[in-house]
This record gives sequence, structure tokens and C-alpha cells, in this order.
Amino acid sequence: MKTTLRTDITIADICKGFVYNELEGKGLFGLDGKLTIQPEYQRNYIYADGKRDVAVIDSILKGYPLGIIYFNQVAEGKYEVLDGQQRITSFGRYVTGKFAINDTSNTPQYFSSLPADKQELINKTPLLIYICEGEESEIKEWFKTINIAGVPLKEQELLNAVYSGPFVTKAKEEFSNSQNANVQKWSAYISGAVNRQDYLHTALEWVSRNNIGDYMSLHRYDDNINELKNYFTSVIDWVSSTFSMVEKEMCGLEWGRLYEAYHKQPYSVETIAQRVKDLYADPYVKNRKGVFEFILGGETDTKLLDVRVFDEATKRLVYNKQTKAAETTGHSNCPLCAQGNNANKTKIWKINEMDADHVTAWSKGGATDIKNCEMLCQTHNRAKGNR
Ligand SMILES: [Zn+2]
Repeated sequence: MKTTLRTDITIADICKGFVYNELEGKGLFGLDGKLTIQPEYQRNYIYADGKRDVAVIDSILKGYPLGIIYFNQVAEGKYEVLDGQQRITSFGRYVTGKFAINDTSNTPQYFSSLPADKQELINKTPLLIYICEGEESEIKEWFKTINIAGVPLKEQELLNAVYSGPFVTKAKEEFSNSQNANVQKWSAYISGAVNRQDYLHTALEWVSRNNIGDYMSLHRYDDNINELKNYFTSVIDWVSSTFSMVEKEMCGLEWGRLYEAYHKQPYSVETIAQRVKDLYADPYVKNRKGVFEFILGGETDTKLLDVRVFDEATKRLVYNKQTKAAETTGHSNCPLCAQGNNANKTKIWKINEMDADHVTAWSKGGATDIKNCEMLCQTHNRAKGNR
């Protein structure tokens, strides 16, 4: 791969013919039509937050270096941005009047309202640009390893770069597009940001059963995303028809895995809704995120709910009471050891040899309070299991 350092290209040069697509949030072209700012493998523009975009302009006005920018030469005199898209889009948007920065007296200043010397300063700022020429594969491999200043690439953004092609382009149109009318519905179940590829990542995770790299490699040159889209829709439809409520704890759960495990079982939507309500109202349930899987699995795995346990003070009180009574009667302080004929019939266990148990199990309505607490030796507590 050949690289050439260019220091003669200025901000004004890049901004000539700058096109920004407001709808898709992308800086598209610059350098008088010779530069593609957002090739398909690049992530969407994410600096438009009133902080990072403003910081770029502040740096320029203060004369700080903007850092190295990398272009890939795709044909004679034609380039695409390999790294630097966020910075270029920021100054391109500023120079074309898309946002303002606050001056020292806190007055918003658009580019056109800046004093002439400051406009000139921005326009004439030279950039440090490496132009790379090489095989697609070398450039992509290298793109994968360059350290990108500011916001590091997310795993999916890298995967999109590595496996760029018709499949990624189509998949991004569907899953990385915040204008997609379905995004709002999906956002009840999927966490993260559409433009940082979190939705695409989730969709691929589901369809590939967590083998995203293999899946993308296999489908890289596909001209459709039917399987990805159908699978994703099946999961979302299953979740939204099984659970009639939308709770914030439902967002970001492993719905793909749950779909695989449970979608063939019939459920009563009404019963499920009532059980979610009950468990949400139960003060002993500490982990609401586990409620959905708990119900789907037939309400057996209480670990999913992280049910509140007895505190140390309660355990000690109950231990002292049981032990005192046991010593006067000459029995074991584990009520189960004390019954029947066993070797530990009269054994007085130490507190650290015992565990607290719900007399009436939590799943049968037993509360986590002192009246429902008994100390059992560890063997008996484990044997009793369900709490
Ligand atoms: Zn015992």
C-alpha cells in the first residue's frame, strides 16, 4: 500500500460542493465532487450533539491541529474518506450554516456571522491528509487497525467495514436508519442507538445465534436481506404478541435466545400479563429483568428474580432463639436434624454452618421477614431447595 502526505488541501477546498444529507445524518460529498465523505462502510455522522461538532470548530479557531485525516484513492483524482469523516462533516456543516457556536459573550455565531478574519482563518486552515492507494483488502485491514481519535468504533461498525458489500448496504438501510418507521416499536425491545449500529448488531446476533462474523462473511455478496429481516420480524412479533405490556426492563433482553427456547410453546397472553403485574408488584423481586424469562420457563428458576434474602441481623436473632431453645431441650438447633433418627439429632451447629430458609417458600407467598425465617443446617437447606 502506498501513502502520500498532502498538506495543501484546506478546509475551504473540502467544503467546496459540500453536501450534507439532513435526513440520513450524513456528510456525503466534498472537494468539488472529488471526495466521497461517507462511503458505505463508514459509520453515520455522530458528532452533531452540540459538543463534539462545536469542539471541532473551537479547535480550528484556536489553531489546534485537527489530527491526521486519511483518504483512500479510489480512482485517479477521486477519493473517499477512510478516517476523518466526523471532523470533515463537522466543519462542512459549520461552514454551510447548519449550526452555530457560542462566542465569548455567549452569543450564537453562525459561520456567516463570524468576523471576516475568523472566516478566513477557518477557510485557510490546511489539513494533514494521508492519501492511501492499495488493494481493497489491504485498506480494509488497515482501516480496522488504525486508531481512530475521539469515539472508538463499535464492534459492528468494524464488522460493517470488514464485510462491506451489498448485504451490509441493504442491512443498514433497514436497521441503521433512524427514519425507519419501525424503529420506535423496536426500541421497546432493543437498546442502544440506531446510528451506532446497535439495532443491526442485535438483528445479526439473533439470526446468526451470536456468530455475526461468520454470518456476514457468508452473506456478504447477497443481494437481499430476506432471512435477516424475516427472522428479526419473527422475534419481534413473538415478543410483542406474547407480552402485551411494554416495561422498560424489557429493553435489551436476549429476545433472540428466548425466542429460540420458548416460541414453540403456547402461552395465555392474559395469564402472562397478570403474572408480570404480580411479580412487578412483589417487593421481594429484586431483578425485574428476569421476570419475563422466569414466566416463560414455567416459574421454576427463582434465581432469575434475585429474590430478596434475609439480612444478617434477622439471621442472628433467629439463630440465637433456635439455639437457646435447642440447648434447653437437648435437641439439634437445626429443626430438621432434630426430627427422627440421625447422627446430628443433638448437634448444635455454628451460625456459619447454617443458612436462612423461608418456612413458607417465597414462590408460595412466604415473606422475607423474621416470622417466616428459620435457620437450617446447610445440608438440610440445600435439600429443601425451593425458596
Ligand atoms: Zn439439619
